[in-house]
Amino acid sequence: MDKDIRYLKGVGEKRAELFFKKGIRTVNDLLYFFPRAHEDRTQIKEIADASEGETVCLSVTVFSPVHDTRIRRNMLISTMVVFDDSGTITAVWYNNKFVKDRFRTDDKYILYGKISLRRGKKEIVNPIFEKADSTRFTGKIVPLYPLTEGLTQKLVQSVMENALKEAGTLKEYLPEQVRSKYSIAEINFAMKNIHFPDSPESYEIARRRFVFEELLILQLALFDRKRNGEQYSGAVFQNLKAVREFTDTLPFSLTNAQKRTLNEICADVRSGKMMNRLIQGDVGSGKTAVAAAAIYLAVKNGFQAAMMAPTEILASQHFETLTGFFKNTGIKTVLLTGSMKAKERRETLELIKSGGAGVVIGTHALIQSDVEFKKLGLVIADEQHRFGVEQRAKLSAKGENPHILIMSATPIPRTLALILYGDLEVSVIDELPPGRVPVKTYAFGDSMKPRVYAFVEKSVAGGTQAYVVCPLVEETEKSDLQNAAELSEKLQKRFPKLKVGLVHGRMKQKEKDAAMESFASGETKILVSTTVIEVGVNVPNANIMIIENAERFGLSQLHQLRGRVGRGGGQAYCILFAHGSSDITKKRMETMCLSNDGFYISEQDLKLRGPGDFFGTRQHGLPEMKIANLFEDGDILKQAQDAAAEITGAGLENYPELKKRCDKILNDGIAMN
Ligand code: ADP
Ligand code: MG
Repeated sequence: MDKDIRYLKGVGEKRAELFFKKGIRTVNDLLYFFPRAHEDRTQIKEIADASEGETVCLSVTVFSPVHDTRIRRNMLISTMVVFDDSGTITAVWYNNKFVKDRFRTDDKYILYGKISLRRGKKEIVNPIFEKADSTRFTGKIVPLYPLTEGLTQKLVQSVMENALKEAGTLKEYLPEQVRSKYSIAEINFAMKNIHFPDSPESYEIARRRFVFEELLILQLALFDRKRNGEQYSGAVFQNLKAVREFTDTLPFSLTNAQKRTLNEICADVRSGKMMNRLIQGDVGSGKTAVAAAAIYLAVKNGFQAAMMAPTEILASQHFETLTGFFKNTGIKTVLLTGSMKAKERRETLELIKSGGAGVVIGTHALIQSDVEFKKLGLVIADEQHRFGVEQRAKLSAKGENPHILIMSATPIPRTLALILYGDLEVSVIDELPPGRVPVKTYAFGDSMKPRVYAFVEKSVAGGTQAYVVCPLVEETEKSDLQNAAELSEKLQKRFPKLKVGLVHGRMKQKEKDAAMESFASGETKILVSTTVIEVGVNVPNANIMIIENAERFGLSQLHQLRGRVGRGGGQAYCILFAHGSSDITKKRMETMCLSNDGFYISEQDLKLRGPGDFFGTRQHGLPEMKIANLFEDGDILKQAQDAAAEITGAGLENYPELKKRCDKILNDGIAMN
């Protein structure tokens, strides 16, 4: 099984290189190189029964050998007339100079190809062919593999046959009781039928096994990682009354979901184990208030708390929000950023080290090397900062095994949450504070622009502010920056009396801050930006969100952006300018217009994701799967998760083969941060 494919019959040095490119080095790798589709070549049809548009196998005798016609310099047409008991048909090949001398009159062949009509007569176009007495590629269900240049289907198919022979009898490593409980096919049956199925039903049974297997191992690995994390002991917070003390100072009362989440946090921090919890809540659900309560709790128990934001803009915003929350509490909050002057930075670091600062806000750099805490007990981070076992170890090494709280505004459909967050405890804030007026959303084509901007003008005159967001795509970052810059100039000309601002990722920190501040203070009325404002920015007076090229964003991302408005009361509007008229784009925009529910939107996003899957997998950070489709194999996922829980309960170490496979994907760093 671990044999190098170079020594496999039909491979050799040169072809091995091509397989290496696909990550295939051993016979075992090759067996797990699954087909992307199959062609059913089992049904042999009579010529008379084959109808236009069908792809069929014909069992025929050659009537007259191949005749070549060159109609243009680069267009060769080869034709051959064949017959069976029911009639005759012409086989046609385009630009295939190899068929010419392959056939002899009266020989019998199997042809496999698509039937089309030309001048009222049936033809079989570019058929695959082989001698009727030695079929390897027809008469069965044939696998189609994802190819790289230099590899052909025929080649991979025959190498795969050799690999199956070479491997011989495979050892079953799924526990017998799991296989029988969940009706999972045995490995040898499954391996043969995933590649060369006897029937479509056998293929489904085989596929089910490998999907189950893949998801089971992923889930086991995640459980394993979670368990490893739990081994860390954590600081114990004794004084839990502090939570109440803090929430009493708030100008609002917490929603039930916020209260529930705080209770879960309290249970964690008194347990003696290190907390590793994710708070999942839609935009505006009040995660920051919960985080503030947790920080207050940590500080009142004699610990310091750190809060990490993905950008400096956000760090400044959090700083302001938290300073507000802690105004009359005697808690000192500091902001640490990369753009601070040396002296200021030194003083801030000193405050952190001496414990003079109870709360520190900053970017990721906050918990890295040179920042020393007196007694760090809690780290709050957004979703972008996931902590694996290793980082957790690093954090613990900072002294006090700080508890970790991660905040996420990307709602994940429940079936997937376990896969994505399998190593975290999850609290869900599934309730918005009362009195929110849902944002009204519209999707328009460019022809509506004049009217939309007239509306903006009127609204701004009435005292509100507007965001205009342009997408930023990595590979063409430069031109996209220009888009935002050009657009802001254009708008400034269109609205000479209003201040139009610009903020994008390439600006210097100072410029960004200045632009944001000017918007927050109400001086800038229209802010053009790339997606740097996406997460968490809070300017309650802004009630209009215009999104250019909305079709280029994921739905969850659009939902995030939309969450920037409607924070200050009053009716807010989100206007999506979408280009292209594909059904998917239409449906996606429709979803945005009809729903304000982040979970629903996220589910639709995954359903509607197009090929290439920019919007689905990447945005949700889901791991790459070999065969399972996380969106379509939901029922198998559920079973695999149940089985994983049972196996983990019984002790993974009792299943050495499974453990080996888990360790492998953990070592490969499951495609998750
Ligand atoms: P999130 O971070 O989840 O997007 P925020 O924490 O920024 O949401 O909260 C959005 C707004 O709602 C803030 O202005 C916050 O002060 C306010 N808020 C939070 N919780 C409540 C509540 N229970 N009742 C009323 N307003 C709340
Ligand atoms: Mg927030």
